[in-house]
Parts: sequence; C-alpha cells; structure tokens
Amino acid sequence: MTDTPTQLFIGGAWLDAADGATMPVDDPATGEIICHIADAGPKDARLAEAAAVQAQEEWARTAPRARSEILRRAYEIILERSDGLAHLMTAEMGKPLAEARGEVAYAAEFFRWFSEEAVRIDGGGGILPDGRNRMLLSRRPVGPCLLITPWNFPLAMGTRKIGPAIAAGCTMVLKPAPQTPLSSLALAAILQEAGLPDGVLNVVTTSRAGEVCEPLLRGGRIRKLSFTGSTAVGRLLLAQSAEAVVRTSMELGGNAPFIVFEDADLGKAVDGAMLAKMRNMGEACTAANRFFVHHSVAEEFGRRLAERMGALVVGPGTRDGVDVGPLIDRTGRGKVEDLVADAVERGARVLVGGRTPEGPGCFYPPTVLTDVSPESRLMDTEIFGPVAAILTFGDEDEVIPRANDTPWGLVGYVFTEGLERALRVSERLEVGMVGLNTGLVSNPAAPFGGVKQSGLGREGGRVGIDEFLEYQYLAVPVR
Ligand code: NAP
Repeated sequence: MTDTPTQLFIGGAWLDAADGATMPVDDPATGEIICHIADAGPKDARLAEAAAVQAQEEWARTAPRARSEILRRAYEIILERSDGLAHLMTAEMGKPLAEARGEVAYAAEFFRWFSEEAVRIDGGGGILPDGRNRMLLSRRPVGPCLLITPWNFPLAMGTRKIGPAIAAGCTMVLKPAPQTPLSSLALAAILQEAGLPDGVLNVVTTSRAGEVCEPLLRGGRIRKLSFTGSTAVGRLLLAQSAEAVVRTSMELGGNAPFIVFEDADLGKAVDGAMLAKMRNMGEACTAANRFFVHHSVAEEFGRRLAERMGALVVGPGTRDGVDVGPLIDRTGRGKVEDLVADAVERGARVLVGGRTPEGPGCFYPPTVLTDVSPESRLMDTEIFGPVAAILTFGDEDEVIPRANDTPWGLVGYVFTEGLERALRVSERLEVGMVGLNTGLVSNPAAPFGGVKQSGLGREGGRVGIDEFLEYQYLAVPVR
C-alpha cells in the first residue's frame, strides 16, 4: 500500500490540498488509521473544475477508438493488479478479500463494456415528412461532469460512471466517499497509466462534501451530475442542480422486497436470500430488506436461512475463511443495532445473531428475525447490515401492495416455480429490476437503476452511455 496515492489528482498532477488539510482513512476491522490523505476544500474543487472544463473540448474531439482503447488498457491493468486493489479495498472498507476480488472484476468489466460502447455511439438522420427538410442527428458529450460515489462499492461505483463518461467524451471531477477514497485514487493512477489525457479525470477527496460540491453544481460550468448514494442526499443535490439546470442521474437507496411463494424451490430461495442479503455484509442498495414468505413455508424457510446465516464466519476481511467483515463504521453499526432493538420490542423473535460482539472493529453478526411487525422501523428504513427480517403473507393480491408500499423502487426478488406467476408478479412490482429465482441482478451489461425515490436514469447496459450524451439536430433544407 506504500505506493497508493494519497493526494488530490487535478489536471494530471498529484497535489496537496491548497490549505494543506489532511484527513485520516480508517480500517473498520480494527478502528486504526491506515493513512492520511489530502482533504480538499472549495479552492481545490474550483481548480479541479477548471481542469475538467479546459480539457473538455479537445477530449470531445478525441477519436472514439482512442477513448475506447484507453478504457480497454485500464481494464487490463485493473485485472493485472486485482490482488493489490482487493487488499486496498478490504483495508478501507472491510469486505472480505474474496468479495473485494469479485468487486474488482465487476468494476473492471464496466471499463471493458464501455470500451466496446465508445465506438458504437450512433447518430441518425433522413428526410423529414414534409419532404422539404433534412434532419442530421449527432450525439455529443454532455460536458464536464461531477461524479459523487458512496463507500459501499468503492471501485465499481466509480467505474460505472467513469467508464461511460470516458466513452462519451466527457471530462469529470470525481468526489468519492471519505471512508473509501484510496480505491478511487488508485483508479485515477491506473487511468493515467493507461493514457488518459490530463484534466479528463480529476479526483477530489474531501471531508467537506457540501462546501466542495455545491459551488460546482450552482456555478454553471458543470453540465452533469451523476450521483450514487442515499435518497436524502440525492434530493438535496437535485435541488442544488436546479439552479443551473444541471442534468442529473441518481442512483439512490432501496427497500427491496424478497417474496417467497408456496410453490418456490426453498433451496433456491435460501441460496438467493444469502446472496441478496449477505453480499457486501448487507451494505448494498440491492440488499433484500423485507422478506415476505408464504405462511405455509415461512417456518421452514426461516429455519434454513438461520442455519446458513449462523454458520457464516465473522471477522477481519483479510483473514482466511472469513465470510462477513465489519460494517463501515460505528454509526452504521449503531443504526443496525437500533433497528433490531426496535423490531424485537415490537415482538420479533431472533432466530440467530442479534448481539453486538465485544472488542474493536465494527462487527455485527448475521441475524434472522421472524414474526416481524409491519410497524417495525426496519420496514421503511434501509437496514444496510446483515439482518434478515421475515414477515408472512397469504396470497399474491395481498403481498404485492405490501411489497409496493414504500417510496423506493430499486429491485425486488421473486421466488416461485410457476412461470406465469413469476411474470405476473414481476410486472406488478414497482421496481426497476427484478431477480427471478436469483438473488443477484447486478451486471455491467444490464441497465441498473430504480423507479420512484430510488432514482433517475440507468447505469450500465446499452443505455448507460446515453446519460452522458446529448442529441444535436441539424435542420438542412433539401434543395
Ligand atoms: P450518502 O451519505 O448519501 O453519501 C454518498 C456520497 O454523497 C458520499 O460521497 C457523500 O460524502 C456525498 N455527500 C453527502 N452529502 C453531500 C452533499 N451535501 N454534497 C455533496 N456530496 C454529498 O450515502 P452513503 O452512506 O455513502 O451510501 C449508502 C447509500 O447509497 C445507500 O442509501 C445506498 O442504497 C445507496 N447506494 C445506491 C446505489 C444504487 O445504485 N442505487 C448503489 C450503492 C449505494 P460524505 O460522506 O462526505 O458526506
């Protein structure tokens, strides 16, 4: 980790913060400080914005093939350095090394996917219906972007935005989460090595997010905001973006229902639940938050899930054999503890887990709650931890309105062996994505995103690049 950058990356140079400020990065498994990094203020943000604005015109003119090849080279470098990047991610974020390696591969794939999309940006045109006019349509980069990412997938949330922005010909200022800045700085170094011109990507790490981002959003030079994070912060940033009419993409929170019907294969349902609940220790926007299980199979499902959850090994992500690392910080763990206490007070039974271990680090055990009251706070709060809350239902027409009874609509999971029911229920769920007999939907080739207060726009897939492109229409008379 000695060669991991710890400074701001602006205009192709590694710089300290203008006021010399630094901030610590902690290891959530031990609570110890890993290193100190530059802590940007508004002056650094303006410098980064200026670098992005200055680089924009030439970058937009760069051949799509050249942009594509930079992404492809970066993809290859990430894979070559997979192990080092995984260790860095585990150190700053806590996830077990095996999961960190999985995220590195997932993150790299966004670069490969968008290196392939960069050369397929299409336009269009033709004679208009009146026969007198011709239309020429071209697609152009939207302009300098502000990218804001969360801590839960430190590398992939960056590449999911940077990949399409590079492919489209946009320049960027990236502000990663303060808990996990090192992965983003390492990524910037890789892109520089892959040949990304100076100023195309600028990274400002900061503990002063509001002071750094708000002037950029209101200033009129940033033309696009791509944000991944909580709905509360997303709402605030949408309001700030309104003044200069900044285009926005919002990947926000979720409250995923996980529905198990009486005709489900329970083996598949428990496997799916383990994935949908325990990926990233439950710290995922796609995490199953509310388990609705048909009353005829609820007891058996709860027993099997509790057995699997109870067998998971909790510990530092770097240790062999560990399945569940620490939560991101004490605040995150405190929230999980409060939600479980509230559910238990309202009558939930703890089948496994539910007790915070002694000692350093932000660990919380895999927990299964059953007989959860619909009034419990975890029904309308993202748990963001390894806690499965089980409720029962009687039939389809009862469970669908309950599943939809939330302001969020990112993803839902449906387990049934009936084809028609699977399709019918999926179509009635108010969500952007459905896992049908699977607990994993994320894939760089698929459009990721939600409806309602889970967000605006899609990332990944064929449409991911559209978020960074504008149409220009040329009217040409036919003479
Ligand atoms: P968060 O508190 O909303 O923070 C996300 C990012 O926004 C961080 O970099 C944060 O920096 C920054 N931020 C906060 N206030 C800001 C402000 N006033 N101006 C500019 N930036 C600001 O979310 P989080 O706790 O990091 O991440 C968890 C959330 O992300 C969950 O709700 C999860 O569902 C969501 N998420 C969604 C997706 C998706 O694709 N839909 C994917 C992953 C995560 P600071 O921490 O310094 O404030």
